[in-house]
Amino acid sequence: MTKISDLESRRAIEQSRIRALMTAQRAGERAKLKIGPEHVAWVKEELCIGCDQCTIVCDDDAIEVYPVKLRSPILDVDINKKARILREPCTGCGLCVLACPTDAIVMIDR
Ligand code: SF4
Ligand code: SF4
Repeated sequence: MTKISDLESRRAIEQSRIRALMTAQRAGERAKLKIGPEHVAWVKEELCIGCDQCTIVCDDDAIEVYPVKLRSPILDVDINKKARILREPCTGCGLCVLACPTDAIVMIDR
């Protein structure tokens, strides 16, 4: 049976793999971002699909995912998720912006 420690170790490996990929592939995009301690990430709730990619890359524990009811005229799903940024721990590194598949995260002035 898989142990919690195995999962944590796999997550750490995945975290490091994603960071390396983003650094290599999205360097140009990162250069255009407002990053640094004077900036903070912000989630556009309407674009967030709750995929958790941002929490995987944020090593400052600055993103939390909270439950919401899915709003859709065709689906009635009680459990969906959205991410939100915790302003204090956010260091403004911008990694979550690069990781988000729906461009739901932007960097704003603190
Ligand atoms: S900008 Fe960096 S520290 Fe802030 S939420 Fe995104 S990944 Fe975490
Ligand atoms: S990566 Fe983007 S879409 Fe996924 S949970 Fe984070 S903000 Fe939402």
